Order: sequence, then structure tokens, then C-alpha cells
Amino acid sequence: MRTNVPEIFGSMVFNDAVMREKLPKETYKSLHRTIETGKELDITVANAVAIAMKDWAIEKGATHFTHWFQPMTGRTAEKHDSFISPQADGRVIMEFSGKELIKGEPDASSFPSGGLRATFEARGYTAWDPTSYAFVKDGVLCIPTAFCSYGGEALDKKTPLLKSMEEINTQALRILRLFGNEDVHHVWTTVGAEQEYFLVDKKLYDARKDLIFCGRTLFGAPAPKGQEMDDHYFGAIKPRISAFMKELNEELWKLGVFARTEHNEAAPAQHELAPIFTTTNQATDQNQVTMEIMKNVARKHGLVCLLHEKPFMGVTGSGKHNNWSMSTDEGTNLLEPGKSPHENAQFLLFLAAMIKGIDEYQEMMRVCVVGAGNDHRLGAAEAPPAIVSVFVGDDLKEVLDCIEQGKSYDGNDSGRMDIGAHVLPSIPKDSTDRNRTSPFAFTGNKFEFRSVGSSQSIAGANTVINTIMAEELCQFADILEKAGKDEFNEVLNELIKKTITEHKRILFNGDGYSEVWEEEAKRRGLANLKTTVDALPKFLIDKNIELFTRHNIYTEKEMRSRYAILLDTYNKIINIEAHTMIDMARKEILPAVSRYVGQLVNTLSFKQQLDMEISCNMEKETAGELSKLCDRALTQVVRLETLIAKSDYRDDLARGEYYRDCVLPAMNELRKTCDEMELLTARDMWPFPQYGDLLFNV
Ligand code: ADP
Ligand code: MG
Repeated sequence: MRTNVPEIFGSMVFNDAVMREKLPKETYKSLHRTIETGKELDITVANAVAIAMKDWAIEKGATHFTHWFQPMTGRTAEKHDSFISPQADGRVIMEFSGKELIKGEPDASSFPSGGLRATFEARGYTAWDPTSYAFVKDGVLCIPTAFCSYGGEALDKKTPLLKSMEEINTQALRILRLFGNEDVHHVWTTVGAEQEYFLVDKKLYDARKDLIFCGRTLFGAPAPKGQEMDDHYFGAIKPRISAFMKELNEELWKLGVFARTEHNEAAPAQHELAPIFTTTNQATDQNQVTMEIMKNVARKHGLVCLLHEKPFMGVTGSGKHNNWSMSTDEGTNLLEPGKSPHENAQFLLFLAAMIKGIDEYQEMMRVCVVGAGNDHRLGAAEAPPAIVSVFVGDDLKEVLDCIEQGKSYDGNDSGRMDIGAHVLPSIPKDSTDRNRTSPFAFTGNKFEFRSVGSSQSIAGANTVINTIMAEELCQFADILEKAGKDEFNEVLNELIKKTITEHKRILFNGDGYSEVWEEEAKRRGLANLKTTVDALPKFLIDKNIELFTRHNIYTEKEMRSRYAILLDTYNKIINIEAHTMIDMARKEILPAVSRYVGQLVNTLSFKQQLDMEISCNMEKETAGELSKLCDRALTQVVRLETLIAKSDYRDDLARGEYYRDCVLPAMNELRKTCDEMELLTARDMWPFPQYGDLLFNV
């Protein structure tokens, strides 16, 4: 059956076109004013919107509504209420009021607050964010909302993101005015988040406790074949996967998600979905929806979608490439190199601001992607590395070098590169953008931040990028606004030159994966925060607290609460993983290996009873080797049990350090022994599916 894409696209979304059609003219206009100015919505308007929204949702099959929000778990939360309202005669009517639309009061006590909400005050409230469209999913009208405590502190990931978008708008407009641009009224940050994921067969998944409890394999010897043939990347998509992708696309399109590109990724069983970019808040909502729908659709196809950053050891992990840019309400991309000297000067200023920001707040760029799962990518032998650097490509690097050295770009030493007066050489979209090892790469007209983990919400990373950029643009505007009209170009030249000179250490075009870079980065004084526990304390250093409080993104209290939640989550994850390993080793692996050894020994004694010269080396040696390994594994299990029994920590950070330095290494040792046993044990005796089955079976 053919799908009529334009017809289904956004069919489940209460978008602008629907609002224009369904709302009374005046209501539509005042709602738009609210969306543009962020002013509070009048209750009579809210009532009118609520009625139209409800009627539309019922047409789409909805019976319930929910305030859909993004708590600090990084997932989404919803509590369903039905529209029904009982009548005196025993019947019901379907009702939904403006009050219910604007504000909800979910029980907040089960969501992490990092100490912000005293236990006796369990309430929090959700408030409608009219800049994100409502949608119908599984018979429920979902209303995107922000989630706050009664003290007014943000308990979600959306609120700070919206604040950071407001702040960067303010500062970018100041810069645009300086370049004489009076027509722009709003600057939006735009994001396209490429989502990587693995698909495994549901039956195999169900047989592995580690996948069920932890989302990643805690044991598993490498399969005879890995990704060395590079035959999966962009390879032909198998029918079962292709059926999954078709349905996934349709479901996403109905929800207004701009799913565009799909392909197989580098690792076997790994895939990627790239959307068309949109404003950052919508991109964030859409990415959350995408992750949820991926999981649901996979189940329908007898598959399980793994979003963990590192489901398989020795196989490339999954990330989320966060493509980021800034766009005016006229649709101009502010990171697009221009054609005139004037446009180019403006472009170079934005570029310089980003370079300076990433250098000054490199620790924050690592903090915003912390997580036990992502540590297996960053800081392990995998790209991108934990060291934050900026890739600009060879051509642009040469331009920046010339600016710094006061030379003209054509190599003519006599002329100098005069920003704002001379035409820049056209800066080609760099074909070397395929430097996949850079954590933060300029790719022609946008930056691609590649450190975000595949399971993480992109809200955190974008809040940080927006805020850093807002800070630098604010500093630049302060300087440039003081310059007189005729000195503007001179001051601009100096500013860009100075910025590049002072921050060029963050620029790196080479292989970010090599040891040479680790050495070099150290010499340059760049941070190398390998684990969550190394990175998180940097969240609370003065520089960062000042940054976020100055721009009203987070209060210090909110930062401390977020720090506490992230640390606690890290500790809980490692703790669950350690318990799962112990469980699998004791109840599955050791008994299975012991059974196999028993079988070998039986065969051995049977052979020996036979009255002939018969060789038994295989049984003898294998049984001997496995018995030794079994004993070693048992010792390691006991050691791990002892290690995680400890409970007297000074604080959560000390606990995290202990998990990192003692528990994780003990887990790795146990795994190593068990993986060795896997290689020696008969396939039909191994208690759960192996890497070869999981990775090559779909
Ligand atoms: P490539 O495949 O060369 O990396 P694409 O143009 O296909 O680049 O874009 C990759 C991702 O970047 C897509 O999700 C796309 O929507 C997004 N993207 C493109 N332009 C922008 C932009 N101006 N702002 C944010 N994201 C963008
Ligand atoms: Mg990309």
C-alpha cells in the first residue's frame, strides 16, 4: 500500500495550520501573541483553545489528555486523565477546560529533584509550553509542558532550555543590530539530532538479563566476525529492518517529526535516523518522541531497540550527533559564510564567539554529556574522545591563521586580511568534514556536537551550547557597542584577531582518537575528563555557576540539585550492573559451565573404561581449563559482592569514585574470565545468546 506522506504528515499534531482552522480568529491571534512574546495566556483564550483542542483530539481518537513533560530522568513522563465528566442523569460528556490546559499538578514525589523538594511537599506543577505543539499519541492528547516545584525551581529539562533560547535571542539581536540589521525580530537556535540505535531480536533479548536490566551486555566474547569488513555501513537494508523503518517513519510523520534519512551504521545491527532540523525546543520534543516510537515500533516487529551508548563491548557505540546552528526569523542561517565582506565579517564574529566559548567552557561541554553509559564511548578507546576540541576544516583554519598573522588569504604578505572591508575567499563546504573523531565540528553551516549519548535528552547539551554562545555574544556586543561608527571595522578586526590568538588551542583538525592527540592536548592545557565522576564536579566550579546564574538559566540551587541527581544516577547504574553480573554469573554461567565440565568428565571416564587405546586430550584439557576458570570466576564474584556491600561513604562523590576505581575494574575482571569460559564451552550449553546471534541474526 502506498503512503500519502503529505496527507499523513502531522495529522496527529495540533499545529499552526490546525489552530488557524479550528480557533476563532481573535483566539488564534492572541494565542500567537503569547507564543511570540511569551506573555501569560488569558483564561478566556485558554478556554477557547482547550475546547477546540479537545474536539480535534476526540476526532483523532483521543479519550484522555496528559501534560507531557521531561523530568530530569532524561525520559518523558505522562499521567493520563480522561475527558469524561459525569452528568446528573448518569451519562458522561467530554470536557476539557482552559485551566486544565494551562496547568497540571502531577504528584512530583517520584521524580528526582536532587533535594529541591522536601518530602512533605510532594507537589509540583506543569505549565503548558505553547511554543511546542500538542499531539495525539496512542489515544492520548499530549500537551507539552514545563515542570516546576512549588518553590518555582525547574524540575525538568525543558525550562532551562527555553530560557537559554531566550537569552541567545537577546544577545544575537544585539550583534545583528550592530551590523545594521533592523529587520530581524527573533533569532532561533536550530537543531537536527541524528539518532543512532541497535536492533536485536526480541526472543534473544528476553534471554539476557543484562540487556533487560541494564540495556547493555555485561558479558560476551567477541563474535568470529565483527565490523572489520566495513560491510554494514550504508549497506543494503534487510527486509525485516526495512519493514520496521517504514512503519517508524509513518508513525513519526503522523506526529510531525521530520524523519528524513535512515541508514545502516558502522556496527552490525546498528542504524541511524536523521531528522530535518527545526527550532531547538521542537527538536528536543521530537527526539524524545522519536526514541519512544522507535522502541514501540520495534516491539511490533519482534525486535528490541537498544538506545544504550555501548550495548556491545568491542563494537562501536551509539551517539546522537547534535547539529546546531542559529537562524533569524527571516530564515537566514547565521553560521553560513556569506558572499559579501559584510556578511563574512558577521559570520567570522559568530564563529569566533563559538570558538572562544567552547575553549572557556570546555569542561561544561563534557559535563552536559555525562552518564555511566556514555563513559564507555568518551574516554574509552572510541571517538569522539573526552577531550573537547573544535574542528573547522583546512580552508577555514587557513583563513583564521591569516587573520591571526595579519596576512591576506591569497598568501600575499603585503596585503592584510581586513575583515569587513575585503571580500573573503569563498569558504567551501569542507569536504574533510568526515573527520568523525572531532567532538565539535564545523560542517559548512552548522556545528555538529558528537559527544551526546544515544540515550540522552539533547536538552542539556543545547542548554549549555546556547548559554555559552549567549555569554560570548554578550561580551562581544559590550565591546562593539562602545565603538564609534567609523572605528567599527577596526575594533571588529582587533576583536576577532585577539579571540583567535587567545583561543586557538581549542582548534584541532587531526585524529582525535590517537594517543598523540592526548599528549598534545595535555601540552595545550585542555581538559581530559574521562569519566562522569571526573567531569561532574566541574559543573559546580565558580566559573560555571556564574555563567548560568548570570544568564538566569539555572539558580545555584538548581545546579546543585542537578549535580546530585546525575551523580546519584551514575552510582545507581553501576550498582545495578554489578548486581546483575553477580546474578548472571552465580545462577547461569557457573552452573552451565559446571554442567559442561561434568559432561566432559563423564565422557572421559566412559572412554577410559573402554578397553582400547583412545585419546581423551580434548576432554581432559577443556575440563581442566574450565574448572580453573570457574574457580577464578567464583573468587571474582565473591570479591565483587564484598565490594558492593560497602555502604559508609563520605558523600555521593566519594561513592562514585569508589565505583569507578574499585567496582568497575572488578566487574571487568569477572567479565574477562567469563568471556574466556564462553569461548571454551559448547554452544548449546552456554546459558544465553552470544554476540554472533545478537549482532547478525536480524
Ligand atoms: P551531513 O549529512 O553532510 O552531515 P546534512 O545536511 O544531511 O549533513 O545534515 C545532517 C543533520 O544536520 C540533519 O539532521 C540536518 O537536519 C541537520 N542540519 C542541517 N542544517 C542545519 C542547521 N542549519 N541547523 C541545525 N541542524 C541542521
Ligand atoms: Mg552528521
